[in-house]
Amino acid sequence: MPSRDPNMLDLELRRRCNRAMCAYVARWGRVPMPIVTCTYRDNEEQGQLWEQGRLKPGPIVTWAQPGDSPHNQVPSAAFDIAFIRDGVTEWDPVHFSRFAEIAEWYGIEWGGRWPTPDRPHFQIPGWKPGGTAHAWPAMPEERT
Ligand SMILES: [Zn+2]
Repeated sequence: MPSRDPNMLDLELRRRCNRAMCAYVARWGRVPMPIVTCTYRDNEEQGQLWEQGRLKPGPIVTWAQPGDSPHNQVPSAAFDIAFIRDGVTEWDPVHFSRFAEIAEWYGIEWGGRWPTPDRPHFQIPGWKPGGTAHAWPAMPEERT
């Protein structure tokens, strides 16, 4: 089962995600409201997503096979977001860009900059499958 539980996130990623959410709301308000839609996703769910647009109908939504996504590790090395207005999900790229500007300030890598952009996706900078090195910059408020 995919999870939205922030406790499934890498601790440092969760800390920076929380700060980015607070900073976003302080700057842009709560309408539309950014929400985390996915933290951890197991290999079965990843496999179903991968088949979409390939073996099953629908648009391609992932380039990662099971086990190759930062969502598939415990704790998760990535989170996805969406924007909600009056209970309805919005996909306006402007909102994602605004959130990304803040998230990147906190050192989070944004999937929207990839050659095949994944705008809702944010992850530990430089994450690679099987990789363990986390190259976090200092937290902005703690930079001297
Ligand atoms: Zn993602």
